[in-house]
Amino acid sequence: MRAYLAERTKLIDASGIRKVFALAAQLKDPVNFSIGQPDFDVPEKVKAAAIKAIENGFNRYSQTAGEQKLLDKIRGKISTDYGWKNPSLIVTSGVSGGLLLAFLATVNPGDEIIVPDPYFVMYKHLVRMLGGKCVFIDTYPDFKLPVEKIERAITDKTKLLVLNSPANPTGAVYSKQEVQSVAKLAQKHGILVISDEIYEDFCYDAPCESIGRYYDGSLILKGYSKSYAMTGWRMGYAAAAEPLKSLLDKMTQIQQYTFVCAPTPFQVAAVEAMDLDMSGYVDIYHKKRDRMVEGLKGSFNLTKPGGAFYMFAKAPSSYPNATVFVQKAIENNVLIIPGNVFSEQDTHFRISYATTDEKIEQGIKILNRLAK
Ligand code: PMP
Repeated sequence: MRAYLAERTKLIDASGIRKVFALAAQLKDPVNFSIGQPDFDVPEKVKAAAIKAIENGFNRYSQTAGEQKLLDKIRGKISTDYGWKNPSLIVTSGVSGGLLLAFLATVNPGDEIIVPDPYFVMYKHLVRMLGGKCVFIDTYPDFKLPVEKIERAITDKTKLLVLNSPANPTGAVYSKQEVQSVAKLAQKHGILVISDEIYEDFCYDAPCESIGRYYDGSLILKGYSKSYAMTGWRMGYAAAAEPLKSLLDKMTQIQQYTFVCAPTPFQVAAVEAMDLDMSGYVDIYHKKRDRMVEGLKGSFNLTKPGGAFYMFAKAPSSYPNATVFVQKAIENNVLIIPGNVFSEQDTHFRISYATTDEKIEQGIKILNRLAK
């Protein structure tokens, strides 16, 4: 047979998270700190709305950009939150779908994409598959946004900057001042910003800031996966102000030839979801965050995360790197992810505390023992 795999397939590696899942499958009742989704289920009202939508015949393709009712709902939220008069919108198949459409519409081979490191894995792989080059900006040890370093990284080839706050894997939440400074910088250089705000509802210490409020060259990606625990429903959306109208138009055209539309019954159910108050769930995760920080800060070098449901702690110096520490943790029934899955360095590990309080207590005990 002739070789059939495209060159770009050589640029991607099996996700490190999947490798942990494969190991996890062999463990009995592990403390699973590796999961990137909430441990609660989709609220009953939203499930009922999805079932009703299917029974009522919302089973066909929707418009490429999305169901009108959902678009109207999103327009209301975006206009209120951003003050944009006539935002461009498209409902996407998760934020992943939005990221793919956005990168397909913007990245040429050779383009440089500025990405703060640590980063959500998908950015690097999507950019590489399109022939772009990620320029990583080191944000260790506190994961604040290093605006000056970003400015120094800008060249003629810079196409865009990716921001993600609250962040996966660090849980970092950018302050108003950081967001305003980077907005000023992006404006000065006329650079597109893609802001992945999938964890926007999980902010514990201060309201979540969005660069879209300060810079109208921002493409905002938001999602339902984490806020409503519907990761399998594949729902998200992209929003932008007037200056990025043609980007949204192109993303919609590309959606026509790729995803076609986001899942129609779940678009209908998402209208219902957007009316729900999820703050009770967020309060529970806030408490889990506090407990996790309290439980581990004596043994581990860590920065208190302000949001999402992750912590990014430094592996104890008695281990040669984070991967070796993670292997040791897995041998001891605790599943965590080595930092090099999300970073150009292998010094830290990611903990997801989206699990039961009982498992959190067990995990804290084991990790503290291993750090001694
Ligand atoms: N962005 C970030 C930062 C994420 O953590 C995730 C999910 N792990 C996604 C995007 C993709 O989410 P989805 O496609 O389910 O909306």
